[in-house]
Amino acid sequence: MRPADFKTIAAIATPSGYGGIGIIRISGVEALHYTRKLIRQGETKTFQPNRAALHQLINPANEQVLDEALVTYFRAPHSFTGEDVVELSCHGSPVVLAELLRLLVSVGADLAQPGEFSLRAFLNQRLDLTQAEAVHDLIHAQTAYQAQVAVRQLRGELSKQLQPIKQALIELIVWFESSVEFVEDDLDSLDLAHFRERLSRIAEQITRLANSFRTGRLIRSGAKLALIGRPNVGKSSLFNALLGTDRAIVTPLPGTTRDTLAESLNINGIPVRLIDTAGLRDTDDLIEKLGVERTQTAVAEADLVLVVVSAESTLSNEELDLFQALPVSFGIVNKCDLADKQAAVLQQALAAFAPVLRVSALTGQGIDSLRQAIYQRLVSAAEFKTEDAIITNERHYTALEHALASLREAEQDLARGFTEEIALANLHQALRQLGVITGETLIGDIINQIFSTFCIGK
Ligand code: GDP
Repeated sequence: MRPADFKTIAAIATPSGYGGIGIIRISGVEALHYTRKLIRQGETKTFQPNRAALHQLINPANEQVLDEALVTYFRAPHSFTGEDVVELSCHGSPVVLAELLRLLVSVGADLAQPGEFSLRAFLNQRLDLTQAEAVHDLIHAQTAYQAQVAVRQLRGELSKQLQPIKQALIELIVWFESSVEFVEDDLDSLDLAHFRERLSRIAEQITRLANSFRTGRLIRSGAKLALIGRPNVGKSSLFNALLGTDRAIVTPLPGTTRDTLAESLNINGIPVRLIDTAGLRDTDDLIEKLGVERTQTAVAEADLVLVVVSAESTLSNEELDLFQALPVSFGIVNKCDLADKQAAVLQQALAAFAPVLRVSALTGQGIDSLRQAIYQRLVSAAEFKTEDAIITNERHYTALEHALASLREAEQDLARGFTEEIALANLHQALRQLGVITGETLIGDIINQIFSTFCIGK
């Protein structure tokens, strides 16, 4: 279907529930026509693009006034979707919004599918695929830093970074095609060396981008933290101390319970969740029932494992077992306020197994250092560099990996003495994979899959 054939769609674009304002968005060639049908007779029905005008919205069947709304018209192609768009900024009453939407459908509009506005923006080339995906990420960002990374992508940063890589690959393909055409035999060793050098430069750039996914994954999906230790050493208190003032800042998401909400830390913009350690927290019990091996399996999904001991007591054998058997990121000696000397002794005893920090969940002593240590551990594991574009999306990462595999294949093809055509086919394949990221080469199914994860009205 060509974009011009699309029917006009409408949806409520603001979240469900009561609010000061609720917005209905209409997109398509009939957007103005349908809007006019909902405007009272006698009111002017001409609309200046990009100007908001106050109108009474009515039920066309009985002329009953339903709301007073600011109507804004965006003329194609200068709109989010690239089509004619009208936004009705109504009062945020779910009843009024639902009724207006029903009336729009009754005069001819279709209900928009999830993500359909963004899909049209993509099909009308207002956004490339990475930008459309960034709209989704921005809306669902849980930390300000996640939002910042999404906005960079929305502004086309990733596409901009990919452009010179694609260009270099295209130039290599052109050079290679013409070299193959002009030589009768195989490429000579000089040409081959030249080819290899250019290829490895391109592969290097793609690898750098792909490597940023380790950071990107953390920024997008967050990290998981396991807090392990005997009962009463202060694990819950420690987690609450780490939450600190964040608690009020973490944004509630629809459908999340207060519990899961309270369990999301914001460590310098990286969401860190306590993994579901039901039972794990009760380590004495766990060691008895399941054994350390099972504990290991249970913490396997954690990015960080913190084993907490209390400065009040000496180390038990079970605690030493934990340090020996688990991939402990940090040992934490808690309750330093009660026994500072003993805390130092424990710190020394455990230092052989992992870096150890002394804290007090009660007084807050050492908590900032612990936050910093957690952050450093997470980002250094991810080779974090702020100036580079960051791959946050698994789909992009997979495409980069596929492109790299094709480049490697191309090189091996020549090394093995295959015909140049085979190597060329792999170069073309690598280029196609890079195009998959921005959406230049993609099949419909995948596109539908991507946009169906969006919310309605976006
Ligand atoms: P958990 O069973 O490991 O989760 O331990 P809790 O967080 O429930 O704490 C057990 C008890 O130790 C509670 O009474 C806390 O108030 C107390 N507690 C926790 N951390 C500290 C600390 O740093 N200093 C002191 N003095 N008491 C603490």
